[in-house]
Amino acid sequence: MSEIHTGYKMTCIMCGAENNEKETSTYCTSCGGVLQIEYNKARKEIQYPLGTIVPDPLKNHPSALKYLSRLSETYGATLYGKLEFEHPTGCFKDRGSYIEVQKAIELEADAICLASTGNMAASVAAYACYFNVPCYVFVPEQTSEAKLAQATIYDATIIRIQGDFTKCEALCREFAKSGNYYLAGDYVFREEGQKSFAYELVDQQDEPFDYIFIPVGCGTNFGAIYKGFKEMRAAGLIDSIPKLVAVQPETSSPVVQGIFKREKIITADSNTMASSVAASNPIDFHKVLRAIDDTGGDALTVTEDEILYSLREMATQEGHFTEPACALPLASFKNNREKFSGKRCLFVLTGSGLKDTKVVATHSLTPPVLKPDLDHVHSYINSGFVEVQRKAFGKSRDTMLANLKMDENHEKLYKDHVERMNKRGKTLRKNELEYLQTMVLNEETDLDLPVEVLDYKITMRKEELVEAGVKLLINSEEKISHDKGVGPIDAVLNAIKAETDNFLSLEVIDHEVEILSPDTDSLVIVTLTLEKDGQQWRTNGASADTIEAVIKAFEKGLAITNKTLLA
Ligand SMILES: *Cc1c(COP(=O)(O)O)cnc(C)c1O
Ligand SMILES: [Zn+2]
Repeated sequence: MSEIHTGYKMTCIMCGAENNEKETSTYCTSCGGVLQIEYNKARKEIQYPLGTIVPDPLKNHPSALKYLSRLSETYGATLYGKLEFEHPTGCFKDRGSYIEVQKAIELEADAICLASTGNMAASVAAYACYFNVPCYVFVPEQTSEAKLAQATIYDATIIRIQGDFTKCEALCREFAKSGNYYLAGDYVFREEGQKSFAYELVDQQDEPFDYIFIPVGCGTNFGAIYKGFKEMRAAGLIDSIPKLVAVQPETSSPVVQGIFKREKIITADSNTMASSVAASNPIDFHKVLRAIDDTGGDALTVTEDEILYSLREMATQEGHFTEPACALPLASFKNNREKFSGKRCLFVLTGSGLKDTKVVATHSLTPPVLKPDLDHVHSYINSGFVEVQRKAFGKSRDTMLANLKMDENHEKLYKDHVERMNKRGKTLRKNELEYLQTMVLNEETDLDLPVEVLDYKITMRKEELVEAGVKLLINSEEKISHDKGVGPIDAVLNAIKAETDNFLSLEVIDHEVEILSPDTDSLVIVTLTLEKDGQQWRTNGASADTIEAVIKAFEKGLAITNKTLLA
């Protein structure tokens, strides 16, 4: 077996100081700058900063380099995608985790820990599990269920933190110091793993690309791809490096803004559906800046609408369902068609769409559940719903929804909802109206409510349990019921259940509260997980008021239970 490297040192890209990997694998101990690996000699084979290396045990083949024939024809350029979602955990991060976990073993760490918004957690967990290294992942409470499921199946200890990624990162850094733990993340050894992208590409391509479009969060992947090319150029394997284009969502673009100012910018936490590139503190900004300068590249932003539209276009035209982040390259290409016309362009498709299905769910209509009856099926197809569904992605969606023909019963349900909101002095926004329409279309209109909550009152006293009183209508009879709980939601549910459990007992296993427009606080959606006789299901309620939404969801739960019992 040939040597893995020609000897290397770890230096700071800001102050040049040499750092010792036994002391740090994250930031420069002199100035806090970002680190890089410099090999003693250039050589044709890829070099890794390890003593020995195990061939990647999870990866089967290079990720495909795919010609995008329809998009090429449509836009008059030669367009390719590198399908990085073909990696074992569905994301390019595996390239880096593969090396980081082996570095952790070489440094004799007792465990590996990291903070992540999901993809890196899943990826490091997979490699740590394979190599029998205990793994701790710190994730924000909002992390996608699919990504959490991956970390779970790979035996990671998942630590869900109240708050966002920045909170997780700070806490995990503290945690790393509390033991002999290797702190994984967007650092120097990950870069060394992720640079294999460039080696793989050069092996696969017939001709060099003019441009490579890369979705950017922390900038680590961008820097790593550049480093791979730079090493190959030094070794004489290639003559020049393609122009590297960094793309970010307009609403989360510290790297792009920084490129124009030529200094690192840290933004407030930002909101984008491309959650895997939502990094407010882009660790590898300076590496991105240097790569763009050296290659004559560019930095571009795209809007949320453009992301949605390109996400759909990649799926419908080329068949690839990716994460929203992967729509950034196509969206930015389309915004600058003149510039890229006739060029050879590569889009880096970083992750799988199955990782984040919620984005699709919240931007489309969920089909209603129909009775098993062919007439219903036909009337549903003719309602316009299917057509709306198809066009629901992108800009035309708002106007399309207005054309939806609801049947009389659903129309009434919908109007009731809106009237209730208006009564509270709330005017709903378009996205909230759309959400309501979707929810209503999903509702069964022939549900009889066995119990209606006419009114409620919550009383809170310092250092005591919350007290709730409810006025119920049961069999046309009014009843008042009181109970206590640890919070208002708990209290109001207990008060209702104190009465209804007598004839229709129903357990509330969990509740989730989602606020659709956090700035105006107008539409709250509450989803309850209910259980009866060992069976669990979910119901939801919408209102301007959290407690009212809880009540609506529970009323519906009782109605469904009742109907099932009668059936
Ligand atoms: C992590 C990630 C990115 C961003 O990569 P950075 O190295 O943070 O710039 C892009 N897409 C997906 C799917 C990711 O998981
Ligand atoms: Zn330094």
